[in-house]
Amino acid sequence: MTEAARPGGTPGENRTGRPGSTAVVVGGGLAGVTTALALADAGVRVTLLEGRPRLGGLAFSFQRGTLTVDNGQHVYLRCCTAYRRFLDRIDAAALAPLQNRLDVPVLDAAGRPGRRLGRLRRDALPVPLHLGRSLATYPHLSLAERARVGRAALALKALDLDDPALDERDFAGWLAAHGQSARAVEALWDLVGVATLNAVARDASLGLAAMVFRTGLLSDPGAADIGWSHVPLGELHDRLARKALDSAGVRTELRTRVTSVRAAEGGGWRVEVPGESLDADAVVLAVPQREAYDLLPPGALDRPERLLEIGTAPILNVHVVYDRQVLSRPFFAALGSPVQWVFDRTEASGLSEGQYLALSQSAAHQEIDEPVAVLRERYLPELERLLPGARGARVKDFFVTRERTATFAPTPGVGRLRPGARTKAPGLYLAGAWTATGWPATMESAVRSGVSAADAALAALGRPRDHLFVHEEAA
Ligand SMILES: Cc1cc2nc3c(=O)[nH]c(=O)nc-3n(C[C@H](O)[C@H](O)[C@H](O)COP(=O)(O)OP(=O)(O)OC[C@H]3O[C@@H](n4cnc5c(N)ncnc54)[C@H](O)[C@@H]3O)c2cc1C
Repeated sequence: MTEAARPGGTPGENRTGRPGSTAVVVGGGLAGVTTALALADAGVRVTLLEGRPRLGGLAFSFQRGTLTVDNGQHVYLRCCTAYRRFLDRIDAAALAPLQNRLDVPVLDAAGRPGRRLGRLRRDALPVPLHLGRSLATYPHLSLAERARVGRAALALKALDLDDPALDERDFAGWLAAHGQSARAVEALWDLVGVATLNAVARDASLGLAAMVFRTGLLSDPGAADIGWSHVPLGELHDRLARKALDSAGVRTELRTRVTSVRAAEGGGWRVEVPGESLDADAVVLAVPQREAYDLLPPGALDRPERLLEIGTAPILNVHVVYDRQVLSRPFFAALGSPVQWVFDRTEASGLSEGQYLALSQSAAHQEIDEPVAVLRERYLPELERLLPGARGARVKDFFVTRERTATFAPTPGVGRLRPGARTKAPGLYLAGAWTATGWPATMESAVRSGVSAADAALAALGRPRDHLFVHEEAA
């Protein structure tokens, strides 16, 4: 083991030449990259340590022959203000544009193929009228169901999101108590909720569900406009993030797994990686909850075992390359079928001929370990049912990506298990989509957690909060 190194360049100086504070950020997912950028922007000398050979954590790309594949389709909403600032900060906003106006085609496979198309879209009217026309004409619900959805939406708007009791209740129970039929849950609440929460309503905390629907659909007319990357995720979260980190003066070490974090003798923290130890004034653990549990020194949290009680939920992506175009829209959601959301990945993947579709299957507990052959038998006929053009098309490639621990499980009661950024150990902080951001496990939650951890560290270091990621309430 070498002598303990200080993050950055000359000991005791930051890139501005002033005597400076130092920080080590462990984990190069969106939470860690955000923390590192925010700290470096505020003049702290930062080292970012990531165990894998790339940045981006759970949102990454890989090569399959000439195809660049995302491990899972990722979307964000206009209300994801922190993630949007992150995209701005890494100079990537133009590569992941938002729809001008929310517009989700919803195909019902139970009707005649291709005929039962509904749309969830908004008008240029104030909340909640912006969704009124879309709801009034949504063909997948009866007139009475649509009226009851409207009433439930207003009841949801009236909930007090600061009431911790909401987190203890499940969303399905609340929906039933507010007159929502099984069909309304399937065709509307779960259609949106499963994709955003990674859980069906009966497995979801009312608090988190209410937060998602309130923020997305009932805060600002444009809040639910959907954005997604038009290039591989790795281009944003790895290449451009790395470029921004480099120009901010962050020392980034990939393939560098942290094995322990402990208090250093002269104060501050000592971080051990194979072959090196680093000393720093502040350490941020931006790793998943189980890894955080393993790395936390004794006494840092009152009940660290609670981190292990936070469950996880899987997401499966099914990838199909056809020899021709079978879908003319960028994406759609499906009903009456195991297919959930389908995205056209052709351009982003670099495919030059034919069409590449990715099926994003959330809360995929039943399917995550199914063999590829079984999934192929299940999904290809379903796509033919939904997309008439797929019937005569040749499947050139079929594969799946499985993320068994894609998100934390947003189960009732999870809120009290999620710790904030500060620990009881001065100078040691937590970040990650699973920490107490108030959001479900999303890119937005990851970025928000990174901002909170950086803010807590900067406050303790006595440094101004001089970075671009400022929460909207303070902006
Ligand atoms: C298939 C899929 C689809 C998704 N879809 C969406 C979506 O549409 N919209 C959305 O907003 N969110 C989506 N998400 C969720 C989103 O990707 C995550 O919430 C977010 O990326 C989590 O970021 P993070 O930084 O908190 O954690 P992570 O991405 O898990 O990053 C943690 C990092 O820490 C590293 N690490 C762990 N231990 C160590 C160690 N000891 N030393 C060094 N490094 C270590 C890991 O390698 C990892 O890179 C999806 C996730 C998946 C998997």
